[in-house]
Amino acid sequence: MNRPVRLLRALAFAAEKHRDHRRKDANASPYINHLIAAACVLAEEGGVTDEDLLVAAILHDAVEDTETSFVELEEHFGRTVAGIVREVTDNKMLTKEVRKQLQEERAPHASSQVKQLKIADKICNIRDIMHNPPSGWSKERKQEYLAWASRVVAGCRNVNERLDRAFDETVSAAVRLLGRFTG
Ligand code: NDP
Ligand code: ZN
Repeated sequence: MNRPVRLLRALAFAAEKHRDHRRKDANASPYINHLIAAACVLAEEGGVTDEDLLVAAILHDAVEDTETSFVELEEHFGRTVAGIVREVTDNKMLTKEVRKQLQEERAPHASSQVKQLKIADKICNIRDIMHNPPSGWSKERKQEYLAWASRVVAGCRNVNERLDRAFDETVSAAVRLLGRFTG
């Protein structure tokens, strides 16, 4: 399958799987916007051309948030893509606190592809928190997310300098807007 075809098929697959899924902002934006944004951050800001990684970015929340299996991803998009998505998929049997703790602990041991995807995902979420925040989130909760995302990203650095810089700029803008978490 040639490059654009696989990317376009991933977009169509994700759009279908996430069709009833919305972000947490006041307008309940379609979830597919977030998946496109994550792939765009990797390609445009990170200069990523690795097609498996861009396809995995589009599919990164499919198993966590929709009725999609890793077997299905492997059949349609190959083992590498399914493996990347597996590494970024939280185990929903665990409590949120444990899941967040595990993300921090596991980030430094993740593959280079996964580290880049994690940074792109956090950049997108922080930008959303600035411009389209989850409804009902206090300033402190937004600050807590910023602090946690920064700890996860600390374990993902030194793979892609451009992404590291984009993350730092995003956090600086968010801190200017929201202030820093003081615990
Ligand atoms: P959640 O995990 O509940 O929400 C953040 C996740 O929601 C993101 O990672 C993202 O998922 C997804 N998301 C969907 N829509 C948006 C959007 N518009 N903007 C940003 N993200 C969106 O939040 P947390 O549990 O991480 O809460 C943040 C911090 O606040 C934590 O440190 C927690 O301990 C603390 N907290 C504070 C509370 C308080 O009242 N002060 C209450 C509960 C928690 P994806 O990555 O899959 O794209
Ligand atoms: Zn995401």
